[in-house]
Amino acid sequence: MERDPVIIVGAGPAGLALGTSLLLRDVAVVVLETEPKLPRDLRAGTFHPPTLELLETIGVTADFLAIGIRVPRWQIRGRQEGVIVEWDLSIIGDVTPYPFRFHCEQFKLTPLLYRRFTALGGEVRFAHTFIDATQDADGVTARIATASGIETLRGRYLVGADGGRSAVRQTMDVAFEGFTWPERFLVAGTEYDLAPHGYTPNAYIADPVDWSAIFKMPGETPRGLWRILFPTDAELPEEAVLDPAFVEARMQNFLPRPEPYPISAKSTYRVHQRVASDFRRGRMLLVGDAAHINNPLGAFGLNGALHGAFNLADKLAAVWRDEAPVELLDKYVRQRRAANVEFVQAQSIRNKQLLEERDPAVRAAHFDELRRTAADPARARDYLLRSSMIWSVRRAESVA
Ligand SMILES: Cc1cc2nc3c(=O)[nH]c(=O)nc-3n(C[C@H](O)[C@H](O)[C@H](O)COP(=O)(O)OP(=O)(O)OC[C@H]3O[C@@H](n4cnc5c(N)ncnc54)[C@H](O)[C@@H]3O)c2cc1C
Repeated sequence: MERDPVIIVGAGPAGLALGTSLLLRDVAVVVLETEPKLPRDLRAGTFHPPTLELLETIGVTADFLAIGIRVPRWQIRGRQEGVIVEWDLSIIGDVTPYPFRFHCEQFKLTPLLYRRFTALGGEVRFAHTFIDATQDADGVTARIATASGIETLRGRYLVGADGGRSAVRQTMDVAFEGFTWPERFLVAGTEYDLAPHGYTPNAYIADPVDWSAIFKMPGETPRGLWRILFPTDAELPEEAVLDPAFVEARMQNFLPRPEPYPISAKSTYRVHQRVASDFRRGRMLLVGDAAHINNPLGAFGLNGALHGAFNLADKLAAVWRDEAPVELLDKYVRQRRAANVEFVQAQSIRNKQLLEERDPAVRAAHFDELRRTAADPARARDYLLRSSMIWSVRRAESVA
């Protein structure tokens, strides 16, 4: 029997990974993308071991590993105190084939996913903007804005993988509960090498005022690109934050040097902690940023988006083929809401609060606790299982 496809709104990492995983299970899929081509903005770039394992199931990990940076060791530092702990992921090498963080720009992953998706016969309709949808007992009818006017498309299910401002979530009339942090985040990218100054390619630097985080990316040259994240005053307009003199001052404040910093990329963004009150309304579902967003400290956003996409693919494929009852989709919701609320939201908020802690006694106690954890092999292992998201994937799987 010919079945209507799963309509996926959004050709971001979540939508393309979901689409590819569904195609591999012989599910018909159509992806709609509002942009005329794959977006190429500076966003996430840290990948955790379970994500690399999941990408392997769709045959993308080997090509991906070839274009990024393996980061087996990362630091937590105090701005005044220097290195507090340096974690070494080799101690969890028995539970994952990828005992490292992996750094590569998100916009280099999406073309790999797109290539795999289209090689399997998948279709992305670019410049197709989802407007809204209605559903009945057998399927979903979506309205789409295209260059030639409004079109309708019939699907058996529809998944919103359309990012934080999700139009699908609005159609589903689902609340996006949580809050927005007051400050604007600035990300500056420099080719100036921070390694001789003792920095690992990923480092978090605590300070009551000038906390920061470092993520070295492959960039566009062999030197790589050190991306540094700073909080900025919420009252400052975006133009002021992106002003070259302002960026230079933040860089010099972070690490003084006689010459100006070569800055080859800079961007700002606001950061939110929000989770959709439900990820399903009948035949419509949410995945990725459309379902949950969080601050980047710990690198859980994109990883969590992909964990959700693969979890959903398993269940949606079975339901689409009538091999499982539709209620199986609620298991996806229970599992991924639990992983997001209990781990991603709680831990990313805590990571930010610990980096910016102002009370010297609390700060010192936190540093002591980190040092004790690092010195105790069992506790260090537990810390790494959590911070590499292995624990949250296991936790999700344990939810009935
Ligand atoms: C500005 C910004 C900076 C970020 N920086 C970091 C970072 O430094 N570190 C970190 O860990 N995470 C970061 N993130 C989060 C990370 O990028 C996301 O978690 C990740 O992109 C989620 O992937 P996704 O596929 O769910 O959504 P997205 O990547 O947002 O993809 C959604 C796709 O849907 C398309 N779309 C939207 N609306 C429609 C519509 N109506 N019709 C059709 N298509 C539509 C969009 O064009 C887009 O291609 C950042 C996010 C943003 C927005």
